[in-house]
Amino acid sequence: PTDLNALCNEYIGLAYHGLRAKDKSFNVDLVKDLAPDLGLVNLISQDVGRVLLNLCTNAFYAVHQRQKVMGELYKPRVQISTRRINNKITIQLIDNGTGIPADIRQKIFQPFFTTKPPGQGTGLGLSLAYDIITKGHGGTLTAESVEDKGTTFTITLPA
Ligand code: ADP
Ligand code: MG
Repeated sequence: PTDLNALCNEYIGLAYHGLRAKDKSFNVDLVKDLAPDLGLVNLISQDVGRVLLNLCTNAFYAVHQRQKVMGELYKPRVQISTRRINNKITIQLIDNGTGIPADIRQKIFQPFFTTKPPGQGTGLGLSLAYDIITKGHGGTLTAESVEDKGTTFTITLPA
């Protein structure tokens, strides 16, 4: 039984501080929208923690990249939301970053697929996340994205 809101807080904080350590000028509007009635959720917290860390790191990277292109006028924003709906828990990671071009959207869950420069990404994060959530927890992991608008990843877990 895990306090999932606390886990979300912990890993979004880790991802944020990881990027900040590399680039002190990086600023982002960090929105935490965590359901007060979430309760404890049965899960393997180290594994779901890794998933959250990767989704958060990806989101911060995407807004950071877009910030470099758009400059001052752009307000980077990353939101993490949790909900308990009927017998399901959902976690959403919403960013207003670069988005994912349509022609690569089908590939992002494949192992070793990355668009990051060498040394910045292994391409293993999402494939591992997919296995942890689906095979490891009987949940689902989906992505919705619009290029130059942003990306939303949604995890559902059985409550
Ligand atoms: P890595 O982060 O090492 O590249 P991932 O498996 O985590 O590997 O992600 C694979 C690819 O999916 C990324 O290289 C990127 O092209 C795309 N991607 C994942 N998350 C996002 C996001 N939030 N915004 C834009 N692109 C994303
Ligand atoms: Mg990644």
